[in-house]
Formats: sequence, structure tokens, C-alpha cells
Amino acid sequence: MSHRPIYLDCHATTPVDPRVLEAMLPYFTEYFGNPSSLHQYGWEAEMAIKQGREIIAQAINATPEEIVFTSGATEANNLAIKGVAEAYFSQGKHIITVVTEHRAVLDPCQYLQTLGFEITYLPVKPDGLIDLEVLEAAIRPDTILVSIMAANNEIGVLQPLKEIGEICHNHQVLFHTDAAQAIAKIPLDVAQMNIDLMSLTAHKVYGPKGIGALYVRRRNPRVKLAPQLHGGGQEKNRRSGTLYTPQIVGFAKAVEIGIENMIKENQNIGQLRAKLWSILQQLEGIVLNGHPTQRLSGNLNVSVESVDGSALLLGLKSTVAVSSGSACSSTKIAPSHVLTGLGRSKKLAYASVRFGIGRFNTMAEIETVGKAVISTITALRQSQRISDSSLSSNHTSQNFGSSEITI
Ligand SMILES: *Cc1c(COP(=O)(O)O)cnc(C)c1O
Repeated sequence: MSHRPIYLDCHATTPVDPRVLEAMLPYFTEYFGNPSSLHQYGWEAEMAIKQGREIIAQAINATPEEIVFTSGATEANNLAIKGVAEAYFSQGKHIITVVTEHRAVLDPCQYLQTLGFEITYLPVKPDGLIDLEVLEAAIRPDTILVSIMAANNEIGVLQPLKEIGEICHNHQVLFHTDAAQAIAKIPLDVAQMNIDLMSLTAHKVYGPKGIGALYVRRRNPRVKLAPQLHGGGQEKNRRSGTLYTPQIVGFAKAVEIGIENMIKENQNIGQLRAKLWSILQQLEGIVLNGHPTQRLSGNLNVSVESVDGSALLLGLKSTVAVSSGSACSSTKIAPSHVLTGLGRSKKLAYASVRFGIGRFNTMAEIETVGKAVISTITALRQSQRISDSSLSSNHTSQNFGSSEITI
């Protein structure tokens, strides 16, 4: 391939930082032992994992024993939600979450409904944030868990974790947060924020795919968790399976780099985002999705009026790799549940673009993308106007919900 589009999809995943890869490499070939083995090869791996665990724990102000390594945030969310449900069902069968959560939270909750649990899906305000009074009012005597994400993967908004934690703590309800997008990007402190369980993943912060962790509080209160993977009893019986030494080393390195550079990197990335937004605002009929300031520095999610969503993505795809507000399953295109959760119309949800700016993007790239977006949208609107006037009885322009890409 001679030319690849500019990558602005850092909420989907990020490239592995070269420093992370370098740290990982010896653990594939040289220090390859099974950390459970009682000989030097095992001890070498065990030592690396111990250090990794300390780094991850420190990053969120937890203790190393409170970290359970998993294959990523999907597994961590499943372990947290189903593991708590199974361990606490005799105390209650009510769980509270939010309509804009990631599918890795919503789907385990839906599954639990089939087992007789009751789930409250809190709405969000038009800016994507929850209403704390609505949360507090939703807590019942039989509520066992509140699961609310730290940073949204589509619109980047940051929920008020400390305030949520305080409410949960006062009502003695466990608080889980999916921090897949937040780790090493915003300050996280499980003590200060009263967080009882927290899901993490490496591959959104320039670490490898296939590794993540669940933080599980051990004191005040000690959280009980029913394991979801049974086997060798690793991770103090909370998650069986041979630990992936290279991935854990890489995860820890990625988190370490992210924490060390957090302030400066957020400034740099924030400048790129501000630039892109200032270019895009030259367009008429472009709206920002999500709270204007309480969001991840690299996130810009916009909806564009008077443009067919699928045509827009098609028009951009040779220039820039981004995601849109439509989630394509194999047969149908559905509008993003996050954008409709904000109250956006289906049409505006389809005609949306999520820009995820990251560590390796440059100002020149942002300017290229900004110009390309403007010219694509301008051209699409023009051709739409021509076809609308020449085919005045036709209704194709309203029809994009069901149609495949046609332009
Ligand atoms: C990416 C993501 C996940 C899934 O994480 P994996 O490690 O890929 O399983 C879960 N929640 C949020 C908010 C995410 O952004």
C-alpha cells in the first residue's frame, strides 16, 4: 500500500509505543517462563509481573493485591458486573448503569436481566453527563452495584467520578467504573473517588491489545467477586489462566509513560483538537456532541446537518481513518446509541464523525484532515442540492437509514 489515510481513530485503538514494544520483546524469547513455575524461568517472569502490577496499582492509587489481570476491558467489565451479581445476589438484584455505556457493560447487564436481575439504565443530559440527583433517586434498598464509565468512548465526556463515588459510598452500594478510555489520560484515584471496581485496558494508551485489568477493592469494603474463568487459580482465584508476561510488561510501560507525560500530552493533543474544531467551525450546520470542556483532550465528535452520513464517511475514507456514529453489524446500520442517548435525531446520529487524536498525530495532519472534511462536506451538500432539485419527487436523501453507501 503506497498511501494510507491519516489515523484519527485513537478511541478504537492506538499503535503500540516503540518504547513499550522494546520493553516487551525480551519476555517473548528470553524470559519466557511461566510465572507459576518454581524455577528461575518462572521467577523471572513472576518478577516482571510483580513490577507491572505495582506500576498499574500505583497509577490508580490501589495496592498490587487489588489488581486482577484480564484480557482487556471487555473481560474486566464482565468479571466486575457478573462477578458482583453472582456474589451479592442474596442482598439484592438491582444494578444501575447508564444508556451511553460501552456494549461491554450494557451486554453483561442485559444478560443478567435474563437471570432475573433488574437493571436501571440512567439517561444522560444533552451534554452526555449524568444527573447526580437522578442517580441518587434511582438507588434502592436492593441495589448492589452502580456501573458508570469514566470517559465515554464515542463522545469523550468525563463523568463526575468523585461525586458518583460519594453517593454510592453513602448508600453502601458498590461502584464500578469502566476506565478503558481514561487510564493514564486523566487522573484516577480509587481512594479519593470511592471506586470499588475499575476496568482497564492497555491498547487505548499505546499498549498491546489483549491485556487489561480489573481493580477490586480489598478494604472498606472488601469486594466479593465470583470468578468467571475457572482453572489454575491464578490471580488469587479471581481469574484463572497463565499470565501473559510480555503483555503485562507492555501494559505497565504504557501506563508509566502515559502518567509521566499526562499533563504535557493533554496540552499538545488539546491544541490539535482545538485546531481541528476551529477549522471545522467554518462549516455551517456542524454541532459538537458531548460536553464542550469536560471531555478527553483527544476527542472531537461532531454531527453535520444536511449530509448523508454514509456518503460522508465514504468521502473521507481515503484521507482519514475515523469512526462514525453508525455501528454497522453484518446486515444493518444502526445509529449510535450514545448519540441518540444525548437526544440527537437519528439523522444527526448517522451524520456524525468521531475524531480520536493521539500521541503521534501532528498539526500538519490535523490541517490536512480539516481541509478534507470541509471540502468533502461542501461537495456532498452541493451534489445533494443538485439531485434534490432534479429529482424532486425522489426521497433518496431521507433514505439513508436502510440504504448502503450509494455515492
Ligand atoms: C475499548 C473499550 C472497551 C473494550 O476494551 P477491550 O480491552 O478492547 O476489551 C470497553 N470499554 C470502553 C469504554 C472502551 O473504550
